[in-house]
Amino acid sequence: MENGNGSSCCNGNGNGNGKPAPPPHVAMLVTPGMGHLIPLAELAKRLASRHGATATLITFASTASATQRAFLASLPPAVASLSLPPVDLSDLPRGAAIETLMSEECVRLVPALTDLLLELKRTTRLVAFVADLFGADSFDAARAAGVGRRYLFFPTNLHVLTLILHLPELDVSVASEFRDLAEPLRLPGCVPIPGPDVLMPLQDKSNPCYKWMLHHAAKYREADAILVNSFDAVEPEPAKILRQPAPGHPVVYPVGPLIQADGGSGSKDDAPCLEWLDRQPAKSVIFVSFGSGGALPTEQMRELALGLELSGQRFLWVVRSPSDEGAVNDNYYDAESKKDPFAYLPEGFVERTKDVGLVVPSWAPQIKVLAHQATGGFLTHCGWNSVLESLVYGVPMVAWPLFAEQRQNAVMLSEGVGAAIRVPESKGREKIAAAVREVMEGEGRGAAVRAKVAELQKAAAEGLQEGGAAAAALAEVVEKWTGGEC
Ligand code: UDP
Repeated sequence: MENGNGSSCCNGNGNGNGKPAPPPHVAMLVTPGMGHLIPLAELAKRLASRHGATATLITFASTASATQRAFLASLPPAVASLSLPPVDLSDLPRGAAIETLMSEECVRLVPALTDLLLELKRTTRLVAFVADLFGADSFDAARAAGVGRRYLFFPTNLHVLTLILHLPELDVSVASEFRDLAEPLRLPGCVPIPGPDVLMPLQDKSNPCYKWMLHHAAKYREADAILVNSFDAVEPEPAKILRQPAPGHPVVYPVGPLIQADGGSGSKDDAPCLEWLDRQPAKSVIFVSFGSGGALPTEQMRELALGLELSGQRFLWVVRSPSDEGAVNDNYYDAESKKDPFAYLPEGFVERTKDVGLVVPSWAPQIKVLAHQATGGFLTHCGWNSVLESLVYGVPMVAWPLFAEQRQNAVMLSEGVGAAIRVPESKGREKIAAAVREVMEGEGRGAAVRAKVAELQKAAAEGLQEGGAAAAALAEVVEKWTGGEC
């Protein structure tokens, strides 16, 4: 394995024999999903560029897709990667939840991970182990390998983390299913979350993935601290509360927003979208995308098409074939649309809208699209990476959540900080058109959302600058890892 030699952040002479100490090294376990890999890789890059560290991203064999390989190959030399061996999950029931698959895979990988960490300890100055949200069982491997500092990286937000940290109590106090709660769920500092919007893996207590989430909640308490990809301005109250150490939860450091700094690697497939955007007026286009794997049922896809048409706004829409034949997150491990998505659009839609709209199959260079001056709104599934990217580029949102924690993100964004307008549950074309129009050019709520997003964009940038809150939080973590000697 090769490690780069990131520039040094301080002048510790380390080993006392006159030779400079090798750079501090951090091992990071990434559970499946580009949405987990990308922010953790960004954290690794930041540790390298700002703090002179090196890192190894440790991935699961189940995610060895071409997209992931290309992404890992594009990282700087200071960030290496290794894949764990494949594990057999064939004994799990068909249709097991993604959260269950990831958690099972992690537990079964503990022996292999222990060996790998022992090897990293031998070959690097390993100062810490970081696991992501479904990987806390790997702390057992770190402990067995004698890695002293075990941290958790939480790629979503402080609202979701608050919920998970309170889950052991909620498991006792909430007897019904969350979706049947008469009152919204109230947690310290958080926007009240209506029962049906609570984190999806918690919505069926008889499903093994609920038990897994409870298990993770207990495991999180073993972390020395939790790094979260969020920032104070977007959820100030939970930030205030979680930053304070308290019994039952480790210290929390908001270190975000960490998004892919270079906007993702360029590819010739990016050109049609970006060239089309170049020809559109400033802030005139609503970008429509449901993350790396999200797809809509046929009927909603049709209403969305007709709603966009009715809105009279320009649009750039990433379409996937509908989800009706499987779960809404069926594309999780592979973003390629399974069938021809165009076949499901209303008849004549593409032709009728060709002067104002562009429909692309499966994938678009999202960050470059959000950064483009022609983009004025983002209809999003509220995946947390998408939300952060939208805020970093100051793009107001229309919220259309699908799965995972997206519904509670939508509540937090629309009812809490006010950075989005949510499409009503009925998903009719008129309601869709109204939400899109309001965010793009409305004078009431839309104007307030646009102003709030501009404010959050500024706060996000300031936090990441030298001396800003997120930069200072990360510096404090590195100080703990290295004792100031890096
Ligand atoms: N993404 C992209 N192009 C697409 C769809 C998604 O570049 O057409 C990227 C997007 O920029 C984000 C990630 O994939 O970084 C999606 O992560 P998110 O957390 O928003 O949703 P998830 O994919 O986990 O549902």
